[in-house]
Amino acid sequence: MNAPESSSRLGGRLEQLVFDNSFAALPEVFYTRLKPHGLPEPYLVAASADVARLIGLDPGEVQRPEFCEVFAGNRPLAGSDSLAAVYSGHQFGVWAGQLGDGRAHLLGGLRHGNEHWEIQLKGAGRTPYSRGADGRAVLRSSIREFLCSEAMAGLGIPTTRALSVIGADLPVRRETIETAAVVARVAPSFVRFGSFEHWASRERIDTLRHLADYVIDTFRPECRETSNPYAALLADVARRTGTLMADWMAVGFMHGVMNTDNMSILGLTLDYGPFGFMEAFDAGHICNHSDTQGRYTYRNQPHVAQWNLYRLADAFLPLIGKPTLAQAAIDDHYGPAFEAAFERRMAAKLGLREFLPEDEAFVGETFGLLQQHRPDFTNFFRALSNLTVAVDPEKMAKMDAPLRDQFVDRAACDAWLANWRARQAQTPWDEASRQAAMCAANPKYVLRNWLAEAAIRKAREKDYGEVARLLDCLSRPYEEQPHYEAYTALPPDWANGLEVSCSS
Ligand code: AMP
Ligand code: MG
Repeated sequence: MNAPESSSRLGGRLEQLVFDNSFAALPEVFYTRLKPHGLPEPYLVAASADVARLIGLDPGEVQRPEFCEVFAGNRPLAGSDSLAAVYSGHQFGVWAGQLGDGRAHLLGGLRHGNEHWEIQLKGAGRTPYSRGADGRAVLRSSIREFLCSEAMAGLGIPTTRALSVIGADLPVRRETIETAAVVARVAPSFVRFGSFEHWASRERIDTLRHLADYVIDTFRPECRETSNPYAALLADVARRTGTLMADWMAVGFMHGVMNTDNMSILGLTLDYGPFGFMEAFDAGHICNHSDTQGRYTYRNQPHVAQWNLYRLADAFLPLIGKPTLAQAAIDDHYGPAFEAAFERRMAAKLGLREFLPEDEAFVGETFGLLQQHRPDFTNFFRALSNLTVAVDPEKMAKMDAPLRDQFVDRAACDAWLANWRARQAQTPWDEASRQAAMCAANPKYVLRNWLAEAAIRKAREKDYGEVARLLDCLSRPYEEQPHYEAYTALPPDWANGLEVSCSS
């Protein structure tokens, strides 16, 4: 008889979630224990069956009124030991001092199968780290975070996940009056670069070491086997962050607020705010309307991540001992990881069976073409995926139409395509295999701003169907889903001039 295990594999009930709360077992300097402030008369806006399963919850549980109460922050689950964590950080390149979970409550950690998950509510009221703000999140930004977390997971990119969005009619003041919502986020850990900067800045080295030991022992035990476990952890973060940056660049994702308090120590995409996916290509695109200097443009992301890693290295210095070791942990790992992953990603996007030395120049030529002619980044690569290398010259223009039609200057597209075909001939690959590989690397569907906005407008009228449809579509972004063809469209007229800012 092994009933408990088999029922947990199928997915259990809410009341069967068993918390172990490893973060709450750390000394109290790291956080403030407190209960979430729930929402009045909460209602379910959206939930992810995949994430429910991930943490061992039967997806049917989301329909229970108790689910709404629990994930609005109204009803504590047995074993939950809720808290808000402290951290600091550099914002827009400037030291910002203490920040912390100003509107996030960690409900606790739990184990499912071999995995450890922490569950956090975002928007469940004030904490000691709210710094005068209201501790709330609005429906708009909560839907954006929910959909993008799951879209990134669907794309295969490391990210925090989102279980649910619970809404309420509670008014919240931003530029206008909006309504409140709470997102339940799920990740192995929400520890940030800024969590370490906090203790280093206060010269609390024992506390700093305690946090690093927690991360190593819980998530990266292999670092213990090395001569300098802290240098090994830093190198691990550098490698993962490097790969993550390549992942972002390859799908045209722009985070928008890459402050060190929004950088995950596990290399996850963390804190979705004014993010965007590249549409008409512009490497200098600023997706965050509050980023007046353009610090977080698409093209700057890899450089900013490295700058952030140097801030983390500064914080790790007292643990590592030698500045040269701390610097090497970044320099020997970040750049090489980014470059290798970027090369791999670009080779896959272009359908190159192997990456030849001269391909670096071809990748540069491709970005040059995109920058000059500004086709939609996602649709360009998806259309390319479906072309054939071998074409009858007389039929070529017709065959290539799905790609050519994205250009005003079709001759420029033709010239580049001729080079792409010549390059394909150097490392031949049968068409079907190449097309399948390219479709697995070039998503058909991404969370375009206008799609999120359309779903938000419906949700404000309490119609959540569009959020559910987007979730369904974006969880399988590489598959052809003809009924979602409309989601590949360029922004409609009403969406021109849509702006997203830090306001959330
Ligand atoms: P963000 O720009 O969302 O990463 O937030 C930066 C800091 O501001 C974090 O410490 C957040 O917890 C805090 N914060 C942002 N919005 C609010 C809010 N409405 N209430 C309380 N704290 C907030
Ligand atoms: Mg943040």
